[in-house]
Amino acid sequence: MTAPKIILHVPHSSAEIPADVRAQFLLDDDDLAAELRHMTDWYTDELFALPPDEAFTVRFPVSRLVVDPERFEDPKDEQMEAVGMGAVYAKTSHGAPLRDEAGAAREREALLARYYRPHHAALEAAAAAALAAHGRCLIVDCHSFPSRPLPYELKVSADRWKVVHRPAVCIGTDATLPPHAPFAHAGMHTPPWLRERAAEAFGEMLSGWPGGAARDPASAPHEPPAEGAGTAVAGIAFDRPFAGALVPLPYLGNDRRVQALMIELRRDLYMDEATGGRVAGFAACAAAVQAALRRLIA
Ligand SMILES: [Zn+2]
Repeated sequence: MTAPKIILHVPHSSAEIPADVRAQFLLDDDDLAAELRHMTDWYTDELFALPPDEAFTVRFPVSRLVVDPERFEDPKDEQMEAVGMGAVYAKTSHGAPLRDEAGAAREREALLARYYRPHHAALEAAAAAALAAHGRCLIVDCHSFPSRPLPYELKVSADRWKVVHRPAVCIGTDATLPPHAPFAHAGMHTPPWLRERAAEAFGEMLSGWPGGAARDPASAPHEPPAEGAGTAVAGIAFDRPFAGALVPLPYLGNDRRVQALMIELRRDLYMDEATGGRVAGFAACAAAVQAALRRLIA
């Protein structure tokens, strides 16, 4: 089988924590369950699921609390280190200690070697195979985010408005480029046509969203959606509340044939964030996301 041109990267769907890593955490079981509830991109592996002949999927097998593959390995490049949430988290989303500092430093190399680097090697291999077969590839970074901001978001962002006003779908682009990508310029990996096509595909998805209304949680946090509000929702934003799109390091800023986009769904679209359960129409939601992905890559 020829390698597909599309790569789905699913970094945050797992809540798996190996027992030896669990022992590093300073949280009791209830607090750990709460942290997983906040930080896991629940069900994104089911929502962003395409068969292997359409897309190659690279899913991180353990929780981001173990090690976060979405962060830069080099702490100097990673702005989330400032809130204790670089590749190996020392803090929770609420700023409480997750690991003690010495423990985080001690375990870091082992966690990178065991989970982080093999995952990125798999992603790079998938990109290389797609480039060899097609001369280009598209990496779709698949996430979700809570309907209300977590405390760490407000700490790292200089723009409170961007954090608080949360669209139904956030499309992340290469607009924010790291210091080690000196040849990069915005649009290199996320060209304008790709931005437009993503906005169209996911806009169409929202206009017929099966899971109920997509409202602005900042403007109406407790009110039920207005009559008929479930259709024609202008709920798309670029790089808000989260910016960026993952490009494997060897290609970042170097190879425009590797195109990248991040798609983040607001979690109340498809799940009950308090209980962690799926909404009643979850299967139809997943089908709608997959249809949007197909429109994007067609
Ligand atoms: Zn995520």
